[in-house]
Amino acid sequence: MTLRDGRIPPSAGTEHLLEYALVGDKVLPEVLVGIEDSVITHVTTELVCTESGTGPDGRSDPVERVAGLTLPALANCHSHAFHRALRGRTQTDRGTFWTWREQMYAVAARLTPDSYYELARQTYAEMVATGIGAVGEFHYLHHQPDGTPYDDPNAMGRALLAAADDAGIRIRLLDTCYLAAGIGAAPEGAQVRFSDGDATRWADRVAAFDDDRVGVAIHSVRAVPRKALGVVAEVAAGRPLHVHLSEQVAENEACVAAYGLTPTQLLAEEGVLGPDTTLVHATHLTATDISLIGDARAHVCFCPTTERDLADGIGPSRALHDTGARLTLGSDSHAVIDLFEEMRGVEMHERLHTQQRGHWSAAELLAAATTTGHASLGFADAGRIAVGQHADLRVLGLESWRLRGTSATPESVVFAATGADVVGELR
Ligand SMILES: [Zn+2]
Repeated sequence: MTLRDGRIPPSAGTEHLLEYALVGDKVLPEVLVGIEDSVITHVTTELVCTESGTGPDGRSDPVERVAGLTLPALANCHSHAFHRALRGRTQTDRGTFWTWREQMYAVAARLTPDSYYELARQTYAEMVATGIGAVGEFHYLHHQPDGTPYDDPNAMGRALLAAADDAGIRIRLLDTCYLAAGIGAAPEGAQVRFSDGDATRWADRVAAFDDDRVGVAIHSVRAVPRKALGVVAEVAAGRPLHVHLSEQVAENEACVAAYGLTPTQLLAEEGVLGPDTTLVHATHLTATDISLIGDARAHVCFCPTTERDLADGIGPSRALHDTGARLTLGSDSHAVIDLFEEMRGVEMHERLHTQQRGHWSAAELLAAATTTGHASLGFADAGRIAVGQHADLRVLGLESWRLRGTSATPESVVFAATGADVVGELR
């Protein structure tokens, strides 16, 4: 095997000859990738000949030929692992986000660290199998059913970390501050499990975690009083900081009534918006909100399959992008776990909303699901097939009914593939 200029490609660790691979924003044929100690050591894209079963320069170490289209593993930036228990059970009867939330609270009320671990482990295993390599777990189920902390106050969070380890997925555990049922209202029902009482006690519990995979989150402006918002932003101190934002019109109305500000304006005034911040949903925004988010270079995490399942609405994804915001994706409630569906969902929702096609390119949506998504979780070393990157790749089979005959292109990946087309992984 030689390069076009006659050089021999370097070799170390395990080598794989990929039939097709996403390199940058293009799908290229015949890409040689070396992996050593979970790091990509070389990427060679100018091969002129291949000898299956033989290493470069006639060495005896084999090159594994990988059929299909290889991608960096995807980043699922918004997850509530326990919502997976609701799949197929909340699609009956009429209702709204708020009636769905009552069903969700019923699950939240009965989980223990052991059952939470088991549910999360299976949820994360499904993510791994469908192409996902990193998850942002938005975790607020902290305490016992009556609100008393467990002996280890972080027992539930540690159950999630263990579940991620055992499923083989990277996790950013976004430890969530949740203090109120609504603006000025004490937690009630299952919500007592979510609350630490005040922001200082929340911060003390997070400090006791002592695990570098922990980031932080503000549940929403509904659940965190104004004076506590800045406390969370301060604790974040450069770590990923995630916030549910304007998923529901009722949240906007309550915020304007209480503070005379939209949720976005309130977060801006309290120092929450910035490049390390991810705003989840960002559905019902004003033009001013969009400018504030773009100017802050914040991430916006869209979760189209959940947003349509819960009848949330359609957020202004392209307008946010065009003002400087950076798009990421999440499967959120896990009504389905399929980041390919989330990718195309962003574009499809824009089409239905505007009666125009072509708002987002396949390459842009792939960037949202890979490099930008990982960056928003604090994993800047992942999401690309490039030297020095964390080696976690997924292989799409091109012989499935869905992909057969589509040609190996970014458009095929985004607009035709599903998680079920993931047939292998390379680490
Ligand atoms: Zn959420």
